Amino acid sequence: MDRVLQLIKEGPSAHLAGFFGMLIFAAVHYIVFAKLREQVCIIVCPYGRLQGVLLDRNSINVTYDYKRGEPRAKHNPLEDRDKAGKGDCIDCNSCVLVCPTGIDIRNGTQLECINCTACIDACDNIMDRVKKPRGLIRYASERTIADGTRLSFNVRILFYSVVLTGLLILIGYLFSIRTDIESTILRMPGSMYQEYDSLHYSNIYTIQLINKTRRDLPVEIEIEEAAGEIKMMGGPLVVPKGDVGKATFLLVIEKSQLKSSLTPIEFRVLSEGREMAEIEATFVGPNTLHAGK
Ligand code: SF4
Ligand code: SF4
Repeated sequence: MDRVLQLIKEGPSAHLAGFFGMLIFAAVHYIVFAKLREQVCIIVCPYGRLQGVLLDRNSINVTYDYKRGEPRAKHNPLEDRDKAGKGDCIDCNSCVLVCPTGIDIRNGTQLECINCTACIDACDNIMDRVKKPRGLIRYASERTIADGTRLSFNVRILFYSVVLTGLLILIGYLFSIRTDIESTILRMPGSMYQEYDSLHYSNIYTIQLINKTRRDLPVEIEIEEAAGEIKMMGGPLVVPKGDVGKATFLLVIEKSQLKSSLTPIEFRVLSEGREMAEIEATFVGPNTLHAGK
């Protein structure tokens, strides 16, 4: 929000690329909503194209019950339609008039149908007025309409239910393990060890942190090895809310503690006393020490 206010205050001339990007974005949406409208659903949207290969006789869709509706005939309040052998569709055309893509669902499922269900509501309204049961147009499969049966629990519903439940469990698990901070620690590219003083070696590292919370987070780094010390450069690290923070730090280790030229190190990233991540890295020492595995 602060960033948006800042952009507004600074004006378009200070952010020409963003300004023209927004102009193009707004123009495309204006053309889609004001001019093209349903043409986008029919021509551009891939959903309609995919429908043909995804649907079969068992697929539930917005469907006209032709068994009940045909033969269609105009409404006559003085006539018993059943005795006259007429179907329930009074050919009022309401379902066609309300359809945003202008199709007649009575001709069967068509790729232009975006399943908005406006025709269902329109037809239910008409059925109420002519005192016939609702649902002449409803969610149903071609098979249930043809057989005159209702939807029953089948293997496909069971399969999709299992898949959906699995996905819900997976997304719940992913939410549960989501951390407030995402962090990476790398030894500075191209850097070797430094002789820190007569008793210590040091390595230089960079840490990058993504703060996924809505508050600024102070961050500390610790290592498991007691003989090592971390020296942050530029003072304590605080990552602004919803932003990326970067810092450089030195890891100083006593020479006597190093047994090889490549020592595995485990960093712990903490914020407000809570451990956010454990990151493995290596500490480089002189080649005179044996190479580590
Ligand atoms: S569901 Fe919507 S798009 Fe499909 S036929 Fe009915 S009114 Fe038209
Ligand atoms: S709204 Fe219903 S009754 Fe009217 S034409 Fe469509 S299907 Fe027939």
